[in-house]
Amino acid sequence: MQVKEIPAEGITYDQLKIEKIPLSDEYIERDPSLVPAANRAVVINPCRTCMPLGAMFATLGVHKAIPFVQGAQGCTTYVRYTFCRIFKEPAAIANASFHEDTAVFGGWKNFIQGIRNLVVRYWPELIGVVTTCASEIIGDDMVSYIKAAKKKLAEELGEEKAAAVKIVLISTPSFAGSHVVGYDRAARAFVETLAVEKTAPNNKVNIIPGMLNPGDIREIKHLLKVMGIDSIILFDIADVFDTPLRPPATIPYYPKGGTPVADIADMANSLGTVALCPHEGGLGARYLERKFGLRAVVGPPPVGVRHTDMFLQNLSELTGRPVPEELLDERGRLLDFMADTFHHTMMKKVAVFGDPDIVVGVTRFVCELGMEPVAVLSGTPSKTFPQEIENIVREYNFAPQVFNGSDLFEFEEYLKKTRVDLILGNSKGVDIARELEVPLVRVGLFVYDRVGYQKRPVVGYRGGEFLLADIVNSLLDYKYPDDRTQQL
Ligand code: SF4
Repeated sequence: MQVKEIPAEGITYDQLKIEKIPLSDEYIERDPSLVPAANRAVVINPCRTCMPLGAMFATLGVHKAIPFVQGAQGCTTYVRYTFCRIFKEPAAIANASFHEDTAVFGGWKNFIQGIRNLVVRYWPELIGVVTTCASEIIGDDMVSYIKAAKKKLAEELGEEKAAAVKIVLISTPSFAGSHVVGYDRAARAFVETLAVEKTAPNNKVNIIPGMLNPGDIREIKHLLKVMGIDSIILFDIADVFDTPLRPPATIPYYPKGGTPVADIADMANSLGTVALCPHEGGLGARYLERKFGLRAVVGPPPVGVRHTDMFLQNLSELTGRPVPEELLDERGRLLDFMADTFHHTMMKKVAVFGDPDIVVGVTRFVCELGMEPVAVLSGTPSKTFPQEIENIVREYNFAPQVFNGSDLFEFEEYLKKTRVDLILGNSKGVDIARELEVPLVRVGLFVYDRVGYQKRPVVGYRGGEFLLADIVNSLLDYKYPDDRTQQL
């Protein structure tokens, strides 16, 4: 192998990569008028999924809770399959099993019978009733249905047993939003239904984490523990989607994790609420602020140095507790790691896609690493996302192309016409990364083509170290020139 001669002035990053546009002889330029998602009636390669998924994810984060999906079996099957692909754990979700007759006559019969069967077979402490496109379109009156279902349970099982099963209604017409909105609506529905009364102060902080992975939830708990702060985490999916394999303590089996129902009721008594992801939990935090006067701190997601600093500072203000030395050391270790690796990250051009909040967090972090975001995409449309990105990139003098609620087809077409060294996003970006011959750093909820990503955090200072290691190792793995390896 011939080793390239390095000029005295060094090699600029522009010279490290051969221009590959068009990527191959077979490359056919798309009709430019059809590339913007806004010009099309169809979504191609969507970067979002259906609203009920977010509500089911949330409900499963409550201890001994089961979602009941008022819709067709497919609305549940693919969600269970998705959770299984991501977390390699089973997810118990009940379904009203809509068929043709239900579409004509409504879902009353299926609901009343379904709730009854679910209770007598599984004895859940809580049922999250999740509506779907079909039930919303045919106009199922879910409030009346729930009253009738409770009445039937009381007649059959007695008042006490029936009252022990809480029912929370989460309205999720999927045509009106994505899984992000479904989780957000669930956060409000749970606190609205269960946190109804302010009694004695509990000196706790409510945390609504958003659709983060089990590893992230554990990292948040670590930060809270080191700060010496008691908390209520809604929805605590850590020991639900990453549960120990042990003989079941009870039959029917429920994972040991999840937020206890009593804790959700107690959220009205907390010092305040921190919703880490504004689009995924902000509604719940703001509801508690309006109803009980609890201070709501909404975002930013604690990814990277600055955002984690802000999270700890907010906790400190809510509780009066200082940030301890242990966390300052963790911060210092992340800074040290950034200094050790900046020659790999500086001036690299990156594209980031996924759910709006994680994209905002990651965009801030890559800017902190000296990388230049050239394109950022939120699959879920958001009123605030473009401004949140603008606020970050303005500080660093960057001007990425911002796609708000677009699809990965438009994103890919844009990336083919610009230079990008690295993509950060979930497993939906695998084909794009292969096509562009750049590495994909997997980040976000929908990582289903690798194992272990759900266990590792990206939030907090320690999460930042994991993410930075992934970024640098991916760059090194991917055609890193041999004549530069002496710089490792
Ligand atoms: S988009 Fe509508 S019909 Fe499709 S799975 Fe989701 S809720 Fe069901």
